[in-house]
Amino acid sequence: MLELRNVSVQYGSFAAVKNVNITVEPGEIVVLLGSNGAGKSTVFRTISGLNKLSEGEIVFQGERIDHLSPDRIVQLGIVQCAEGRKLFPRMTVYENLLMGAYIYRKEKEKIKQSLQHVYELFPILQEKRNDPAGALSGGQQQMLAIGRALMSHPKLLLLDEPSIGLAPLIVEQMFQIIARINQEGTTILLAEQNAHAALSIAHKGYVFENGTIVVEGTSEQLFANDNVRKAYIGT
Ligand code: ATP
Repeated sequence: MLELRNVSVQYGSFAAVKNVNITVEPGEIVVLLGSNGAGKSTVFRTISGLNKLSEGEIVFQGERIDHLSPDRIVQLGIVQCAEGRKLFPRMTVYENLLMGAYIYRKEKEKIKQSLQHVYELFPILQEKRNDPAGALSGGQQQMLAIGRALMSHPKLLLLDEPSIGLAPLIVEQMFQIIARINQEGTTILLAEQNAHAALSIAHKGYVFENGTIVVEGTSEQLFANDNVRKAYIGT
């Protein structure tokens, strides 16, 4: 579904991502692991068209997308739910969700169905639909950010650190919901520092260090890898 072939990304003269190869098959959850600054967000931003690559190519469903605008990439079905959430804090939960459906803004029935689906996944968002997004807790804001991304019916959902700053109980819920979104047919590329939780739901993963992939494998292989366990899982 998505293929990064020998992708490199520079910030000025600094090479943030070097010669990276990633494959995401339809229906998978793929996780990018790695510590702060390893290059995961840069990969996401490059897939979304927000950063330009300096080398390589990105292919989505057989079409090269690395020269396309971020808007066009969303229309093709790749939607990023950014770290830091980037909600509109003074707008209501409902209004934030509608913003996620802007590519379908003329299709009222479709928007209604999407809203129902998001409210079913996250009942708290329905309860708080008239509250300003800025008044939600951290976990609820993360749910809203994911809900907003789902409003545009992504084929591939990019989730950058969905568990960041959340209480452990909420983290567990969040990963269960991500697994459900995947089971309902959305392919997911996930960047996470919480390796244990992410590998528990992922099919496979890539470990980033200093902008390159140092280990890759199925979740079982990564769980069994001593270096990965020591560096990212801790037991
Ligand atoms: P994090 O979890 O902190 O977001 P990450 O693995 O996603 O980490 P990136 O944000 O992709 O890492 O950053 C990779 C490297 O590129 C880091 O060394 C970072 O300091 C650098 N970097 C990121 N954005 C820029 C920028 N706009 N200009 C210059 N350097 C940047």
